[in-house]
Amino acid sequence: VLIVKDLSKSFGSHEVLKKIDLDVAPGEVICVLGSSGSGKSTLLRCINHLETPTSGEIRFHGNPVQKHARALSDYRSQVGMVFQSFNLFNNMTVLDNCMSGTRNVLNLSKEEAKKRAIEQLKAVGMAPYIHAKPAQLSGGQKQRVAIARGLCMEPEILLFDEPTSALDPEMVQGVLTVMKDLAKSGLTMIIVTHEMAFARDVASRIIFMDQGYVAEDTDPESFFTAPATERAREFLSRYR
Ligand code: ATP
Ligand code: MG
Repeated sequence: VLIVKDLSKSFGSHEVLKKIDLDVAPGEVICVLGSSGSGKSTLLRCINHLETPTSGEIRFHGNPVQKHARALSDYRSQVGMVFQSFNLFNNMTVLDNCMSGTRNVLNLSKEEAKKRAIEQLKAVGMAPYIHAKPAQLSGGQKQRVAIARGLCMEPEILLFDEPTSALDPEMVQGVLTVMKDLAKSGLTMIIVTHEMAFARDVASRIIFMDQGYVAEDTDPESFFTAPATERAREFLSRYR
């Protein structure tokens, strides 16, 4: 469904992504691993067009992603993103956060948007909090709301950029459990994470990034038991 071809991205003279090729099939759960600064966030941000690639292209169902606002918000409703810092609207209730995208982008009726929001909030265990404001929630709860908000759009692909790394340790499992359930449901996901046990358990495919390159693109068993590159061995040894 999603093809990244020959994607490069520079900030000034610093080439952060170097000729990335990635072909994402429906139902894949891809975990993107790599050291700090290797380009993982930039890759996701390019896929979601929060950054404009310097060269190369991204195709969704064969079509290049258009740059005008309408097409972009359309695209982002199908290829959604969940951020490390949640990016909820702090002045809105949980329910309104989950209705804003479906109301404004998908033009759902109020009733329809509300029904969908409550359904998704239930699925992530946040139904009791629909009238709360984000400030009244823990980090883990905020992240589950952010995931529910993404799901309300019924995206084909959901991108996650370190969804648990801003959370207190005791909040991490709840969010990972929600993501694991999503993976089981067949949602296509690309997840940047430092949670190695989760990646090993849930990923159908591992992308290991090193200095702007895709250094390994393989199945989790091979990656965690017999990484092909010295860089990956070194990286993994830091998590043991
Ligand atoms: P981390 O694990 O720390 O989140 P990452 O793999 O996500 O790292 P990126 O955020 O993609 O890494 O950053 C890759 C490189 O690009 C870094 O050297 C960073 O300083 C640089 N970079 C990222 N965004 C910008 C920007 N907007 N302007 C200039 N340089 C940037
Ligand atoms: Mg990052």
